[in-house]
Amino acid sequence: ELPEGAYDVVVLGGGPGGYPAAFEAADRGMKVALIDENPKFGGVCLRVGCIPSKTLLHVAKLLHEAEEAEQWGIHFEKPTIDLAKLRDFKSGVVNKLTGGVSQLGKGRGVEMIEGRGTLTGSNSLTVKGPDGKERELHFARCIVAVGSQPAVPKIFDIGDDRVMNSTGALELKDVPEKLLVVGGGYIGLEMGSVYAALGSKVTVVEMTDGLLPGADRDLVKPLQTRIEQAFDRVLLNTKVESLEATDGGIKATLSGEQIEGGSRTESFDRVLIAIGRRPNGKTCGVETTKAEVDDRGFVVVNRRMETADPNILAIGDVAGEPMLAHKATREAKIAVETIAGEDAVFDNRGVPAVVFTDPELAWVGLTESEAQRDGVKVTVARFPWGASGRAQTIDRTDGLTKLICDPESGRILGVGIVGANAGELIAEGTLAVEMGAVAADLAETIHAHPTLSETLMEGGEAVFGQATHY
Ligand code: FAD
Repeated sequence: ELPEGAYDVVVLGGGPGGYPAAFEAADRGMKVALIDENPKFGGVCLRVGCIPSKTLLHVAKLLHEAEEAEQWGIHFEKPTIDLAKLRDFKSGVVNKLTGGVSQLGKGRGVEMIEGRGTLTGSNSLTVKGPDGKERELHFARCIVAVGSQPAVPKIFDIGDDRVMNSTGALELKDVPEKLLVVGGGYIGLEMGSVYAALGSKVTVVEMTDGLLPGADRDLVKPLQTRIEQAFDRVLLNTKVESLEATDGGIKATLSGEQIEGGSRTESFDRVLIAIGRRPNGKTCGVETTKAEVDDRGFVVVNRRMETADPNILAIGDVAGEPMLAHKATREAKIAVETIAGEDAVFDNRGVPAVVFTDPELAWVGLTESEAQRDGVKVTVARFPWGASGRAQTIDRTDGLTKLICDPESGRILGVGIVGANAGELIAEGTLAVEMGAVAADLAETIHAHPTLSETLMEGGEAVFGQATHY
């Protein structure tokens, strides 16, 4: 028996997992509370993730294009950068969107509660508000959507604010002359690109033998070529052994085969640690319920987003990889459908991944390297952008579109794109994978000319035959 005033659903965490879950539940007539310790609802994504990073990357792109215009006979003077104004632009975007989430929630009758929530059992949690006061809430179901945080190993935690995580880097306090980026994943490369465009000499250090581990190498190649031009150095198979704060800068000891003599110490003005994110499953009282949390801090869920506790569901970064906003939002819908008694499962065939660098890199579904690793027989069709009229008109022929298909049926199992606007273009590939389209579906669909989307159509032609332009 729940006490009077209990909620049908309490959502813990107001990110791109939590707030859509709360909205969906309210739209279905449930009594809902949404709790976040940050007064700006919208989570990491809106506050210190996707949105501010893409705002700054937009500016980086503009700076690059202004520079490149020289080749087309257009000369711009060297730009001057007003950092305060740029920060204002970024904060303005964040504030507009986080404000929008609050408004939308209130409009739907969601009780938006600011405070830190801690589960105290399968039907209750306490919330500590900004005034330090605690209140107890009761619920029939709780959706845990507490997200993740940057992982910073102890050896890099030297208590100096010149050593930053992604949140610190997004603050854009200054443009350091020399920036060390530890980690060649998407966050390191995106933030490194922003600082490089603003004028920093960027060194990126990656422990493995390639940037963006997980992505197909032929897609990474054009990106790496551009990154090597924009950055000062890309050091692969290299480790940062230690960091030390001095008055003149942060001294980093780097070791690896690309380092002369195997190891050396060098000074940087700032260091960005971007080696991954840690789920928050161990930080909000889940252990007081029957739900399980694994060693890494993920709450263990099934494909209906249920945990081992019938009252507790989990979604988003805290519920497993890939840690991406749109995966969290999809899971939000599944969780609420499950609560509503529908036969819902997360059975999507692909979750698109986009790296918003220059060029952009995007993929969905099966990758070629996964197919090789798992011994899946596939036919791969590649359409290089040198053969695309649209790519020529924007002078960006360094792209590549590839389709990974079933060799018998031609069914599209995966799509990978590197090139300008790959992040937008992947949507068509995602739809193709999701709907079980075959190569002919892409080949025989009329694509507007001249657009980069034609590379998907021509890729479709190339699966069993010949692309018109290649
Ligand atoms: P979160 O967004 O982490 O939200 C969790 C919320 O819960 C937070 O607001 C937190 O304050 C709150 N919270 C946590 N514990 C408690 C508690 N005990 N009580 C109350 N509140 C609590 N993803 C993409 O898809 N595309 C991108 O381009 C992209 N870019 C990124 C760039 C950066 C720099 C970073 C760091 C991440 C990026 N991501 C991107 C990842 C994306 O931000 C996450 O996948 C997404 O935010 C996860 O959503 P979530 O709802 O699971 O959790």
